Amino acid sequence: MKKIDLHDYVATVKDYPELGISFRDISPLMGSGPAYREAINQIQEFAKDLNVDLIAGPESRGFIVGSPLAYALGVGFVPARKSGKLPRAAVSASYTLEYGGINELEIHQDAIKPGQRILIVDDLLATGGTINATREIIEKLGGVVAGVAFIIELEDLHGREKIMEAGEVPFLALMEY
Ligand code: AMP
Repeated sequence: MKKIDLHDYVATVKDYPELGISFRDISPLMGSGPAYREAINQIQEFAKDLNVDLIAGPESRGFIVGSPLAYALGVGFVPARKSGKLPRAAVSASYTLEYGGINELEIHQDAIKPGQRILIVDDLLATGGTINATREIIEKLGGVVAGVAFIIELEDLHGREKIMEAGEVPFLALMEY
């Protein structure tokens, strides 16, 4: 069987959502059973030695990566939601977006217990704001970030350095652009 090249399943959209941004759309990857499975399998392989108790992913494409991974590992999934969506007591952190504006993420206060090891996942790492906000909440709740994993890393935006400035953690990106 031909080996899957995940790059074949990323659609690049120039100047979206605004001039100068190349949007890396993973819809073709999600839409292909073999490619989606391959991506999740690769992250599962990375996760297997990290002693993970929970997967956390930011709304909304973090859910697409995190949920099948949690299922495959047999651990729970914790959504980091945009503010105002969670019905019960939550802890939040805000961050600046790559293409303008401020966003806030929240996690239910009882979703993570002190000492639990969390793997944070998302579809794409750009500036690192989303992941560092997710990490801030996890750490406020006493969780330990066991690692971070992405389908795509945008190298020029140096998000990886931003993550490591907040503390070194195991890192995986399946593709670099
Ligand atoms: P950041 O917080 O800057 O690391 O941005 C990462 C988040 O924004 C991820 O959840 C991505 O889904 C989204 N994102 C940022 N830049 C892009 C891009 N160029 N293409 C696709 N998604 C992006």
